[in-house]
Formats: sequence, structure tokens, C-alpha cells
Amino acid sequence: MKRTLYESDHEDFRAAFRAFVEKEIVPHEPGWESDGIVPRELYTTAGANGFLGIDVPEQYGGGGVPDFRFNAVIAEELMRSGAAAAGLGLTLHNDIVLPYLLAYCTEEQKQRWLPGVVSGEKILAIAMTEPGIGSDLASMSTTAIRDGDHYVVNGAKTFITNGVNADLVVTAVKTDPSQKHKGMSLLMLERGMDGFERGRNLDKLGQHAQDTAELSFTDVPVPVANLLGEEGQGFAQLVTNLPQERLSIAVAAVAAARTALTQTLEYVKERKAFGSPIGSFQNSKFVLAELDTEIDIAEHYVDDCVRALNAGELTAVDASKAKYWCTELQGKVVDRCLQLHGGYGYMSEYPISKAYADARITRIYGGTTEIMKEVIGRNLGL
Ligand SMILES: Cc1cc2nc3c(=O)[nH]c(=O)nc-3n(C[C@H](O)[C@H](O)[C@H](O)COP(=O)(O)OP(=O)(O)OC[C@H]3O[C@@H](n4cnc5c(N)ncnc54)[C@H](O)[C@@H]3O)c2cc1C
Repeated sequence: MKRTLYESDHEDFRAAFRAFVEKEIVPHEPGWESDGIVPRELYTTAGANGFLGIDVPEQYGGGGVPDFRFNAVIAEELMRSGAAAAGLGLTLHNDIVLPYLLAYCTEEQKQRWLPGVVSGEKILAIAMTEPGIGSDLASMSTTAIRDGDHYVVNGAKTFITNGVNADLVVTAVKTDPSQKHKGMSLLMLERGMDGFERGRNLDKLGQHAQDTAELSFTDVPVPVANLLGEEGQGFAQLVTNLPQERLSIAVAAVAAARTALTQTLEYVKERKAFGSPIGSFQNSKFVLAELDTEIDIAEHYVDDCVRALNAGELTAVDASKAKYWCTELQGKVVDRCLQLHGGYGYMSEYPISKAYADARITRIYGGTTEIMKEVIGRNLGL
């Protein structure tokens, strides 16, 4: 079914971003996959080309266009390129972390941080997960105890996307460790602060070009001027911003599913078995017909969520539905498509192999499928 989400501005932007990806990401991606990280220069090049901070007001160097459709175009093009993991950090920077700065920074903080975020000199990350907790965020134990004009931060985070490259980390801390939700706050930790160390760049099943790291904090003195919003509001701030994070993951999941389907259609038309293209077998046709239908339906739901986000109306429940459904669909699509590739699908040199490995995490990060169903179920009064 024809999509009606995008206008000509978005298509022009798509062409420009596609050219950027072809030039600046695709040729380097195999090396970055081996390195387990992208160079910091990818961010400054993206910034120089206007692909960071599209929604940041112009007075801080941004594009001044608060329209998530541009973010969605970036995610779609990254997925289409087959070099998705190399660009994943850009979407985390733009879609997931930057909204916290736009929503909660004081004027002084905006002037201090936003120009570097837009130019790509300050790479963003968000650190919620700890070695002992992920889903049950309110039980986190990293502390930030006030001492005059500083907080003293102690604790550890893990699985942090952009963890090695990040300069500015929105960090969930307990400013009142005696409380659960009400004791949480968000603090900006900055590269170079005493006692702020990076641990391992973690070895993963997929998404190899994306750095995912451990962070540790030992008596880190963080100025009170780095508090985001109000003390004790951290949990509420996360709840407010998680719908956009979940939608960003859903958009990418559907685009990855669409890409896998397109590649598989090409493959089944070429590859022959028993004298016929494997796409001509009824099973192949039915599997691909099913996937095409489900991707169409998912695209339309997600497009409506993007419209709702732009209108300030995306609910936590609808974003959870999008994240749950689209990432499960992505998993189903890459699995079925890999099967249609036969043994070649298991070979790393075939894009479907990478798509399969890269897809597995999307049902887990940003809140697991089970937690999404908890959110949806609670809304049903259960
Ligand atoms: C590659 C990668 C990148 C990541 N990036 C970031 C990042 O940038 N920042 C960040 O803060 N975190 C990040 N994460 C962490 C991610 O968000 C967590 O892994 C995720 O939220 C799940 O938490 P957990 O791993 O502790 O699993 P757990 O919470 O231990 O859950 C284990 C299992 O139990 C299930 N479960 C838990 N509670 C319930 C319940 N109430 N009902 C039913 N089932 C339940 C879960 O669904 C899951 O299946 C990343 C993780 C990975 C692997």
C-alpha cells in the first residue's frame, strides 16, 4: 500500500542522506565491523552535512525543524544500505538522547552543549542499565550524593551504546538512594571527569560496528550545574522520553524487515532448484506474500505513530505496541528470509546473515518485548 507519510522535502533529504551513506559509511563499514567501533569523525562529517540535530533550534546551530519524519528517513536509509550498525549511533544521538537535552536543559546548558552535539564534536549516550538491573530500572543503584555544588557519583553501567565514543552521557542516578522511582535523577557525565572510566567495548552477536561499553564511576565529582531538570524527576523524565526511543527502534525494525524482504525477493528469482527459481515454489511465494503483507501493515501503524509523535500525541502504550510488534516482525522476517537463502543465508558474506544477527537485539534493548506487553496489559486494566 502506498505510504503517505513523506513530502517532497523528506524525499530530497532522503536523496542527500543516501548519498552520504554511500560515500561516508558503506565503503568503510567492513573495517568498522572488524574494529567494533566507528571513528569519531563519522559524527563530525554527519554534523557538517546537516544530519545531526535537525530539530535543534537554529540559534544553537541546528536545523530548527522539529519533524521526526527526517529522523525516520535516516533510519530507513541506514537499514537499506546494509551498513546499519555503522550508523546506529547516529540515530541514538539524534532520536534517543538529544530529546532529553532539548526538553530539560537550562538556557546555560543548551549554550554549553547543543552546538557541539549538532557539529558532532560531542557524541551522546544514555546510561540507564546496570550490571544488576535492566528492566527494573527503579531498582538501579548508581548514586549521586550532593556535596555542596557537586554530586559525588559512584556505580557502574553496562551495555551502553556509544559507550566508548560518547562525550556526554545522560546518566540515571539515585540522588536519594532510600527511594525507588522518586529518588532518581538524570545527570550529564562528561568525558574526562575524574573517576569516570570506560570498561570493555563488549563483544556481541551482531551490530559489530556499534560500540557497546561498560562505564564505571568512582567518586566522580559532577557539578550540580550538570543536573538535567529537577532532582527526583529522573524516572518521570525517562517515562516521558521512552516512547520516542521505542518508536525510533520500531521505525528501524520495519525498515530492516523491508530491506531483508527486498534482498530475498532478488535472491529467490535468481537461485534455482529442481530446474525452477526457488521463488516459483508455492511455499516461497506464500512465505514472501505473508511477510510483504505484515510489513505493509506494520509500516502504516508506525507511520501513524510518527504523525502522532510530531503532533505531541504519541502515548507510551502505542509506542510500546509499535516496538513490540515491529521488532518481533523483524525477527520473523529475517528468520524466514534466511531460510529461503538456504546454506548461503548462513554465510557472513550474504547480507541476510548480518541482518539476522543484527536483528536479535531489537526485541531486547529499549525495553524487552515482555516489558512492552506489561505496559500494554496495564493499560487494559490488568
Ligand atoms: C546491544 C545493546 C545495546 C544497549 N544499549 C543501551 C543503552 O544505550 N543504554 C542503556 O541504558 N541500556 C542499553 N542496553 C540495555 C538494554 O536496554 C537491556 O538489556 C534491556 O532493557 C533488558 O534488561 P536486562 O538485559 O537487564 O534484562 P533483564 O531485565 O534481566 O530481563 C531478562 C529477561 O526477563 C524478562 N523480564 C524482566 N522483567 C520481567 C517482567 N516484569 N515480566 C516478564 N518478563 C520480565 C525480560 O523480558 C527478559 O526476557 C543495551 C543492551 C544491548 C544488548
